[in-house]
Amino acid sequence: MDSKSYQAIARELARDFAPRAAEWDQTRDYCWKNVGELADAGLMGMTIPTAYGGGGASFYDAVLVIEEIAKACTLSARIVVEANMGGISAIMAFGSEDQKAFCAPYVLAGDKPAICISEPEAGSAATEMTTTARKAGNKYIINGCKHWITGGGVSKLHLIFARVIDEDGKELGIGGFIALRDPDAGIELKGLRVVRRERTMGLCGMPETELAFEDLEIDEEFAVILPSGYRRGFADLMNAYNSQRVGAGTIAMGIAAGALEHAKRYMLEREQFHRPLAEFQGLQWMLADMDAGVHASRLMLHDAAKSRGPNNSPFPDIMYAARAKFYATETAIDVVNDALQIFGARGYADQEPLERMYRDVRMFTIGGGTAQILRTQVAGKLLGIKTPQTRDGYSRLANSH
Ligand SMILES: Cc1cc2nc3c(=O)[nH]c(=O)nc-3n(C[C@H](O)[C@H](O)[C@H](O)COP(=O)(O)OP(=O)(O)OC[C@H]3O[C@@H](n4cnc5c(N)ncnc54)[C@H](O)[C@@H]3O)c2cc1C
Repeated sequence: MDSKSYQAIARELARDFAPRAAEWDQTRDYCWKNVGELADAGLMGMTIPTAYGGGGASFYDAVLVIEEIAKACTLSARIVVEANMGGISAIMAFGSEDQKAFCAPYVLAGDKPAICISEPEAGSAATEMTTTARKAGNKYIINGCKHWITGGGVSKLHLIFARVIDEDGKELGIGGFIALRDPDAGIELKGLRVVRRERTMGLCGMPETELAFEDLEIDEEFAVILPSGYRRGFADLMNAYNSQRVGAGTIAMGIAAGALEHAKRYMLEREQFHRPLAEFQGLQWMLADMDAGVHASRLMLHDAAKSRGPNNSPFPDIMYAARAKFYATETAIDVVNDALQIFGARGYADQEPLERMYRDVRMFTIGGGTAQILRTQVAGKLLGIKTPQTRDGYSRLANSH
């Protein structure tokens, strides 16, 4: 299928999703109905190679789809991102043939894999994670706690990052492991517990959870990539995260593009001082700036989606992805804020979608790499220097290899 066809399918679905978005926001329920429709339309796993039953689409195709869906329903757009970028793209790039064949059908049927990196004491400093995967015979035993795991309790596939320890107790670095929790099939996973769900200001239908791993046993064939020093392992898997960052930036841009449409409509509809708002130059200039911000973000995100990192990486370049994400997410917050302003009091009430969009868009400068950390990455690339953030230079992990 070509890019335009994917985009057209997404536009069609978005028309149905828009009126449902407020409902998921209020009930805080997961949008299973939308998930079924996304899977039927071939948008879940559209970037999975055709050899594994996916659509074989590019990240650029996915970005076109994500923008359309995000204009209508942020929750559904996040699901499309996670069913095509990030965790699943890491498995498709680094997994064994068996792992890819095992995971693809879950995503194609509607599963949004959970990616488990952050911990209560390791957010931006992700390499400070303390969760361990200890080798014991042909298994890894995982112990630790993860926080802010999107989809905990609803996701079946989990990609868990942990410090890998060999049978002699030597720490090898950080690796990634696949865990499957599928209560429908009676696979509950002793050792993986949802501790609690956060009550968030936006994106309310998506569970954001704390997960505990208590002697969670993973067969060794579910190790996606094992570390070999700091470079391989965690670094490879984080490269895959560049695709997720482009996806997250696109959701924010899509929300902003949706807010811009609402603002245009309202400026033509609403009259004050016996004139439509559209005739006030102060608002016209605001609208022009909003449009420029959305368009610039879109170009940067498309550029990033088409870019490739060094050494034939299948993933977007870190610099392109980081730059596009911080620019698009910060711009989107401003655009949605201005759109709400154009609506006056009406924008502050839930009779219009602006107040929900405003709460939803706020997250995107935080999750998946904060705007500050992304700027640090961009600056490091611009200057051609390493930008260690710890007082003694590098993290424990980096020093040990
Ligand atoms: C809705 C949501 C969903 C998420 N989903 C997932 C998920 O599915 N899986 C997952 O693993 N994680 C997830 N996260 C976690 C997310 O990746 C972290 O929130 C993020 O990495 C930042 O970590 P932190 O919140 O602990 O902030 P901290 O790292 O504590 O940072 C606090 C503040 O300090 C700033 N800061 C930190 N270090 C520096 C520095 N060196 N220089 C300048 N400023 C700095 C940050 O930018 C931030 O403003 C999610 C978060 C949210 C909000």
